[in-house]
Amino acid sequence: LNVIKAQYVASAVRPDQYPPEELPEIAFIGRSNVGKSSLINSLCRHHGLARVSASPGKTQTINYYVVTAKLPNERRLEWYLVDLPGYGYARAGQTQRRQWTRFVEEYFLRSPRLKLVCQLVDLRHPPQASDVAMYGWLKTHNLPVQVVATKTDKIGRTHVARHLAAIKNGLKLETGGIIAYSALNGQGRDDLLDVIGQILLK
Ligand code: GDP
Repeated sequence: LNVIKAQYVASAVRPDQYPPEELPEIAFIGRSNVGKSSLINSLCRHHGLARVSASPGKTQTINYYVVTAKLPNERRLEWYLVDLPGYGYARAGQTQRRQWTRFVEEYFLRSPRLKLVCQLVDLRHPPQASDVAMYGWLKTHNLPVQVVATKTDKIGRTHVARHLAAIKNGLKLETGGIIAYSALNGQGRDDLLDVIGQILLK
């Protein structure tokens, strides 16, 4: 899958604000500061598409981007890349947390064209309680999840396998592998685009 265009279309906090076009959706979620904006920019090769935040925990809207991609046979595919607000922000208050849970769960349950949730975790650390809870919630609701470990370039090559195993254990990953990604050098980008391409063609 080759991304040829990516464009911001809408932000939403309620279902009536979701964009009207009927396109398949691939959503991205993770703890704030996990590297989600950087990964989205790297995946779309579009610097500045998603804002890389100096102050984590700020994005509290669901952001939709239309991505146009080309298959090896030249066929074009259009899909929504859906950037969900980060969770686990230490300084968020009760009200903010409750609001986050309400509208993110609402998104998951009211998006019939959602094909895949890419859940991002930081490769450097074992998954945190909020990561485990998120993964469990997605699985309970039968949503397909691809776990992506971010900031791979920060871990020495010889340690990557051990860190991936710790994440797999921590999340109690049921099936499928974890993609190790680096927004800095593009490692894992082709693998993630392959997974997305396969899901979109199903
Ligand atoms: P978000 O809050 O999840 O959207 O995270 P950001 O994309 O804003 O990234 C948080 C911080 O991690 C920023 O300082 C990024 O430059 C850094 N970062 C993100 N991805 C990578 C990566 O793959 N490698 C390295 N070395 N740094 C990264």
